[in-house]
Amino acid sequence: MPEKPVILMPEDIQRIMGKDAQRNNILAAKMVSEIVKTTLGPKGMDKMLVSPTNDIIVTNDGVTILDEMQIEHPAAKMMVEIAKTQESEVGDGTTTAVMIAGKLLENAEKLLDKKIHPTVITKGYRLAAEKSQQILRDVSLRITSDDEDILKQIAMTAMTGKGAEDSKEIFSEIIVRAVKQIRNNGKIDLDDIKIVKSKGEGIKDTELISGVVLDKEKVSHDMPKKVENAQIALIDFPLELKNPEIDTKISISSPEQLQNFLTQEERTIKEMIEKVKLSGANVVFCQKGIDDFAQYLLSKEGIYACRRVAKSDMEKISKATGGKIVSNLEELTNFELGNAQTVEEVKSGEDVLTYVRGCKNPKSLTILIHGGTSHVIDEIERAIKDGLGDVIASLKSGMIVSGGGAVEIELAKRLREFSQELSGREQLAVEEFASALEFIPTTLAENAGIDPIDVLTELKSKHDAGEKNAGLNLFTNKVENVLEARIIEPYKIKSQAISSASEVAIMILRIDDVIASSGDKRRSNMPGGIPPGMGYD
Ligand code: ADP
Ligand code: MG
Repeated sequence: MPEKPVILMPEDIQRIMGKDAQRNNILAAKMVSEIVKTTLGPKGMDKMLVSPTNDIIVTNDGVTILDEMQIEHPAAKMMVEIAKTQESEVGDGTTTAVMIAGKLLENAEKLLDKKIHPTVITKGYRLAAEKSQQILRDVSLRITSDDEDILKQIAMTAMTGKGAEDSKEIFSEIIVRAVKQIRNNGKIDLDDIKIVKSKGEGIKDTELISGVVLDKEKVSHDMPKKVENAQIALIDFPLELKNPEIDTKISISSPEQLQNFLTQEERTIKEMIEKVKLSGANVVFCQKGIDDFAQYLLSKEGIYACRRVAKSDMEKISKATGGKIVSNLEELTNFELGNAQTVEEVKSGEDVLTYVRGCKNPKSLTILIHGGTSHVIDEIERAIKDGLGDVIASLKSGMIVSGGGAVEIELAKRLREFSQELSGREQLAVEEFASALEFIPTTLAENAGIDPIDVLTELKSKHDAGEKNAGLNLFTNKVENVLEARIIEPYKIKSQAISSASEVAIMILRIDDVIASSGDKRRSNMPGGIPPGMGYD
């Protein structure tokens, strides 16, 4: 009698195993890396991304591209995660991280072809990743917050070749000033720098405001447009009459009673505004509503007021002006008020904004980006964020490395030396790891239309001769000392990129069985075809 078949999983479960699973995942990862490759470096190209609703993004930023592409293949998604981690941990270097991971997997495939077992490859990669961190610390240079010039150069390197290129001097000045200003006992929180975008005027009009810019107008036309020597009350409760229809539980039987009740409520509001006035405030930022009657009274006192200010903005104004957010008017005295040179309503392009500026020693600032169109402004914002991320990362670790592929070549060289100490097969894996790093300078060259082989040969021979800062300078298109050319990057970009790229490459290499439950989308990700979500299906 034939045995009954054993059924482990429902029929529509798709499963691929062994080599097929590996090759499929590696192919997907390589494709992700191919996508971003052409954007790397100052001569990299941009991509235009069009959403289903026809919104357009023009960008050069690795994480933005991958995020917008709605990639579905599971291994490819893991690659996108690398970019996201890089973005959140450092704020720059997303293309680099994804490319290293892609190349690590591509090179691993060569070893798989030579019948080297995946566990040997992953062991070699792990050793190489650890060694890389040690070498990186070894070759990096120390800086402090006093090295302002270097910090500016770091910001400029981050912005070279982006939409922000033409104004990178102005921006790097702004970035370094902002970061140094918000530094509080050595701690730096990117959230303390608010970025506000305003359409109209040119990119070069982008400014650093020693305070906060709110996209709010004053609540009433009768209020002053500008207040000098602002004394700011920050209130997180409403300045409103309670709505008798909703809130009250008293029953009213005659119009007089209602009138009495309203006068009573109005008196309460009057008292509130009186207290605001007594505190000496001439500006009020209220997190909740301000009703007509309160607006009228505030205007009469010549007080500038905004309502429904976001909680996060309230906190920023508090940090910038030194004012305390009060939840109870009894608490409000002159002592709780914040100070700013001016509070002003400004029509900026199409927007009406409230500027709180001239704060003394503010611990929260605003970068106000100007530009002609929203696409331009958005790309400038991404570039400025890269610059901010890099300057903050450099200050946090106090370490920098040379750019233009110099550090990658030095790493590769020292990794190859290290590989000599290892047994045969792991040695091959470490060598492949080293050559994956060389992919960065060769791509920088390729994207600039320079012969990558020539560049690599020259770089290697210079590094062999002990010139550890020899890199590809894309201002001059020559291989030379890039540290002197001030092409510098934070150490953290490279250490993070190498650690997340190798982690993900190792993780993908260890997979030899993919079990996908039903659902058309996922099934189409299975081998035999090209991974979907990339324009091939
Ligand atoms: P990522 O998303 O990885 O930050 P970028 O497009 O910002 O990618 O490119 C960063 C790379 O460009 C780094 O390797 C950096 O050293 C290099 N780079 C920046 N400016 C120059 C330059 N002037 N010459 C050569 N390489 C440069
Ligand atoms: Mg970058």
